[in-house]
Amino acid sequence: MDAKLQKLKEKIQDADLVLVGLGEECQYDWNALLQDERYREIEEETGNDERYIWIAPFLQKMILCRGREERWDKAYHILREMLEGKNYFIVSLCMDDYLYGAGFDAAKLVSPCGGFRMMQCAKNCAGELSDMPKESYEAVLRYYRGELPLSALEEPVCSLCGEKLRFNQLGVEKYAEEGYLEQWGSYTKWLQGTVNKKLCLLELGAGMAYPGIIRFPFEKVVYYNKKAFLYRVHPQLYQAGEEIADRSSGIAENPIDFLLSFENYST
Ligand SMILES: [Zn+2]
Repeated sequence: MDAKLQKLKEKIQDADLVLVGLGEECQYDWNALLQDERYREIEEETGNDERYIWIAPFLQKMILCRGREERWDKAYHILREMLEGKNYFIVSLCMDDYLYGAGFDAAKLVSPCGGFRMMQCAKNCAGELSDMPKESYEAVLRYYRGELPLSALEEPVCSLCGEKLRFNQLGVEKYAEEGYLEQWGSYTKWLQGTVNKKLCLLELGAGMAYPGIIRFPFEKVVYYNKKAFLYRVHPQLYQAGEEIADRSSGIAENPIDFLLSFENYST
């Protein structure tokens, strides 16, 4: 472990609280889907047909459920080791749900962009989320395996108003914030408890997609809390503001590679 990593490790160990921000650079690379021959076939078959747009997210969910990829799995494992025994909170912009099922305390996570865990009415007619209809998922799996023709697939709809059902993710026509607001409340409460405490902020790959969720607020926290220290890891946008130059450190690296460089963290 080089000196910079060693320093970071000490900062985390020394901190009373650790705040982690997982940015868009941590997101699972959907291009990996294109390596799947059957997926490419399906893309060709469904083409740009509006009627079949809903199938792709189900396939994404399938890929995510089928096998967690080693690269991401390892990175999250290392992050968990880093936070072992610490009072932490993780804010994530990733929609791949890798964070869930990586052994973290679910009460300490918030993902404001949503993911594949719940579904919602495209129009959010009732302000409620719903479980994914298993029969729709099963049908897509069977289609993927070549056991059902495309024409047999039926798009799931909202049981209340008949609108399309979508995964609860930012980008849906009317995103149901109900999916994360309660956890967001826990997060802001947790943040209030960091005032004047030794806080280490670890910002991993948060760029300019949604700077208002991680980047800007993290800087603000460090600006006001003189005992806070920010590590900003990003391949390009690793610089922090001048006002917090003495209490921050920029690391120009891909955040997943960065985590992987901590292999054997606990030894
Ligand atoms: Zn509805």
